[in-house]
Amino acid sequence: MIYLDNAATTKPFKEVLQNLGSWGEKYYGNPSSIYSIGQKSKDVIEKSRKLVSKTLDVSPEDIIFTSCATESNNTILKGIIDVSQNKDEIILSPFEHKSVLNTAKYLARKGIKIKFLKIDENGLIDVDDLKRKISTKTALVGIIHVNNETGVIQDIKSIGKLIKEFDIPFFSDTVQSYLKEEIPTEYIDFLSVSGHKINAPKGIGFLKRNKNIDITPLLHGGGQEFGFRSGTENVIYIKALEKAITIWTENKEIFVKNLQKLKELFINGLKEIIPDIKVVSEGVNTVPNIVNVIFPNIKAQDLILYLNAKNIFVSSGSACSSGSLLPSHVLLAYGFSKEEALRAVRFSFGVQNTEEDIQITLEEIKKGYDNIKLFSF
Ligand code: PLP
Repeated sequence: MIYLDNAATTKPFKEVLQNLGSWGEKYYGNPSSIYSIGQKSKDVIEKSRKLVSKTLDVSPEDIIFTSCATESNNTILKGIIDVSQNKDEIILSPFEHKSVLNTAKYLARKGIKIKFLKIDENGLIDVDDLKRKISTKTALVGIIHVNNETGVIQDIKSIGKLIKEFDIPFFSDTVQSYLKEEIPTEYIDFLSVSGHKINAPKGIGFLKRNKNIDITPLLHGGGQEFGFRSGTENVIYIKALEKAITIWTENKEIFVKNLQKLKELFINGLKEIIPDIKVVSEGVNTVPNIVNVIFPNIKAQDLILYLNAKNIFVSSGSACSSGSLLPSHVLLAYGFSKEEALRAVRFSFGVQNTEEDIQITLEEIKKGYDNIKLFSF
């Protein structure tokens, strides 16, 4: 089995999975209780919060644990709009994750105006367009740091600096960049992270807030997480997140170097087999683990299903409807045609992948490509 869809989710580290049961035995006390087993759980949460805050160079009170990045993104967008009295506009990149785009759509139905930024052919934000679009009505600017389909890294530092000049809250979805890229937190008021992209289980994430910007929580209740996110904390998964982050930070240099090597090996090998491929955003800054390839003459879903039959798992970033793929909104925003977008496959590498995984995948593509061409289109 070769898993090359690590931008969708990752396999949790062994050291995480093996300990879930024992953490459940030890840390079942309610962290809001004042007796010792409750406080033991509380200590787990605060230790994890401290570690997370250290990785981002922010203070522990800036970190709010949530269930996932979707929850974080909903909290940030809805929470800001709820307190923005005379400001009724949000500026977004056109290739935000659906958890941002569909939250914006929901807010648009309530009368909020959504302005989408222009981008260039490589998927980089047009900063002049951003300057033109900012107005006294802007409640929030949201720009994803690393796109989950293409891996393109935005120059969030320069963009954040610019937005600061206008004194507008700036939000960045950093799900795909966290621990892989430097995140300039001093220029980002709100950011979101998901545990399952960094080898922790699904069901845990966090957001980083700016304490000076008072926003309305999504969940009201017992006042956990500094009153910002009610609900009894998911202590075991907060512990699991801490473990995954510890492993990542201890091995970061090796992990990133290895991912980069796998990616280069894959792209070079693929170009030898099919010289006409188009590597999306080649030549611009991308993360070491994501590559999006537009194949000539085949539909993405045919290649995905062929590889699936060989026990190799890859994806297209696009949504699936009635068993067939829809063109990706990200690639359409980049200016690719619908037909090109339907030929795009995303390969995303993880820290458990090996060079052998890449060699086998390339061999299978080489063996199968001509046959797939025969029945594709
Ligand atoms: N943002 C980005 C960029 C993502 O890639 C994902 C996951 O696919 C999410 C948000 C949503 O994360 P979660 O599954 O934790 O809700």
